[in-house]
Amino acid sequence: MMIFRSWWSKSRDRLQVTGHRLQGWSRTIAYCLLPIAWLILASPAFATELTAVMKTPHFTVHYDPADHFLAESTASASQEELTRISKDLGYAIEPNRPIPLMVYRSHYAFIHEGGLADRFTVGTARTGDERISVDASGAFVTMKQVMAHEITHAVIFRILGPQTRALPLWVNEGLAKYESEIYTEVDDTIVADAAAHGTLIGLPDLTTEFPSDRSDLAYAESASAMRYLVKRHGADAPKVMLGELAATGSFDKAIAKATRENERAFVADWTNSLARRFRLLRAWQIAGAFGGAIMAALAVVAFIIRRRRMAQAAREWEWEQFEDSMERQLRDWPHR
Ligand SMILES: [Zn+2]
Repeated sequence: MMIFRSWWSKSRDRLQVTGHRLQGWSRTIAYCLLPIAWLILASPAFATELTAVMKTPHFTVHYDPADHFLAESTASASQEELTRISKDLGYAIEPNRPIPLMVYRSHYAFIHEGGLADRFTVGTARTGDERISVDASGAFVTMKQVMAHEITHAVIFRILGPQTRALPLWVNEGLAKYESEIYTEVDDTIVADAAAHGTLIGLPDLTTEFPSDRSDLAYAESASAMRYLVKRHGADAPKVMLGELAATGSFDKAIAKATRENERAFVADWTNSLARRFRLLRAWQIAGAFGGAIMAALAVVAFIIRRRRMAQAAREWEWEQFEDSMERQLRDWPHR
């Protein structure tokens, strides 16, 4: 079994600090694949709070009876997202196969009952029973966004079945971010910064796991690569890729069918596109550094000019004083 976890990362993007502590944290959601060992150790001792059950056409919603409205709105949003994402990725929704959906009304209950070690987690989706669990409180990320992310994973599990493991992690997480996030500025900034400094992580190094100390960059690159896939090869490219992978179990064949090139060529194209896209950024950075040097030189020149003027003024003032004093002395002399 594999489990995909989304967490609310606080490691980046302090641009939106508004004084409220939570808003100082990152606006990005990062997502992570947990090792199987972790899953076994942390198997949720669930679900004491989620005693009510609501059945919708495609979800079995477990929720806290104290908040029926939250369960209804989450079920409704999930239905919309499932329809949209299934269409995008090429999954024919099966009528008698509801997805288990655990809706927690507080972040604490979600973390506590899920037995999650990382308190920044906001959603999980796992293979096997395909259960989705979410913090639906909206305290960190909107409920709709976390639903879209986890539903994308669930849809990918359904399309690929046992071939899910053949899908590189960067594609799986990249698609989940591509389907759930409209605003890409934060990711773009992270990727641009790494591209400008030559510190991008090679996508082949993100096939089975993400480095825990650079997870924001790993997720940002994954999402960037999937947006590039769609931009370059069309909106159907993810669908074509997943369909071929389900049929053949070969990611090489899958990416070749979607892009007419192999993984290595696709990765190279994406990397080059970043270089092109962020060349302007580098130019700005260089111009900025150069501009800084010019400004410093101008400040020195201005200082010298000002000093000369002051010295001149002082001399003139002294001369005036001398003249005044001479005049006064000459005027007063006979009487003294
Ligand atoms: Zn994920």
